[in-house]
Amino acid sequence: MTFNDNARIDTGKVSKRSGARRGGIIAGGGGIVALLLVFGSQMLGVNLMPFAPVVDQLISGSSLSGERTEALPGCETGADANDDAECRMAATADSLDRYWEGQVDGYRSPADVVLYDGQTQSGCGTASSATGPFYCPSDQAIYLDVAFFDMLSGDYGASDGSLAQMYVLAHEWGHHISNLIGTLQQAGRETGPASGSVRLELQADCFAGAWVKDASTVTDDAGVPFLQPVTQQQIADAMSAAAAVGDDHIMESAGVEVNPERFTHGTSEQRQRWFQAGYRSGPAACGTFDVPASEL
Ligand SMILES: [Zn+2]
Repeated sequence: MTFNDNARIDTGKVSKRSGARRGGIIAGGGGIVALLLVFGSQMLGVNLMPFAPVVDQLISGSSLSGERTEALPGCETGADANDDAECRMAATADSLDRYWEGQVDGYRSPADVVLYDGQTQSGCGTASSATGPFYCPSDQAIYLDVAFFDMLSGDYGASDGSLAQMYVLAHEWGHHISNLIGTLQQAGRETGPASGSVRLELQADCFAGAWVKDASTVTDDAGVPFLQPVTQQQIADAMSAAAAVGDDHIMESAGVEVNPERFTHGTSEQRQRWFQAGYRSGPAACGTFDVPASEL
């Protein structure tokens, strides 16, 4: 989607981390297994399990050596968001936050949206290109390196259109919503075509679609809508991203047999269909935990 050039972005909903080096990490905690909710299945490798058991590391004071955290510089307007991927994420976060505030009773914002370069520590372990973007329930923060978008369009074959990128953040935000409404806690860790993991991921896709439906009505403090109405081409871009990260597509691309018992996110067809359900009918259509397996 295209931002209105004169919309004012509140960048206070994201933070920027850069300059992390390996080393200096003291592993702390004791074997707490964290739930990583990643956008796609793990990339490229044979390990398609998204719930990598991660030893809880230094939740407080968890920055890597040499790492700086700062506010995001140079992102003030919608024009900046149209030009630059990190500004686009900041503006998208602002829009998502305002949208969901009006949808969920007792809404709380995610604790942070961390835009990082290369790697950083999260409450669920190290975030890096190997994890892809994810929502960490234990610190209620989203971790995203915009370098992932090159992988999404290159390795996964998705569109590089702006809505394909915004869908990624909207999906992770959807996990935060599932955390607030309690479905995330129901999901469990089993895999399979009707598993809680698949239901949770399809719910996040549906929530992303719900935001897209009304995104052009969300305004900044001065009443300027952040986004122009979505175009059919942009919807096609988001559909292309949803298809690219379907379990069946990822397994095929990785050269492994498509095995539904290992599904964690849903097929390309399901991910597109649930995104569209949200886009057509809003969050009320996102009851992926309430439908029988045959309707998933
Ligand atoms: Zn996800």
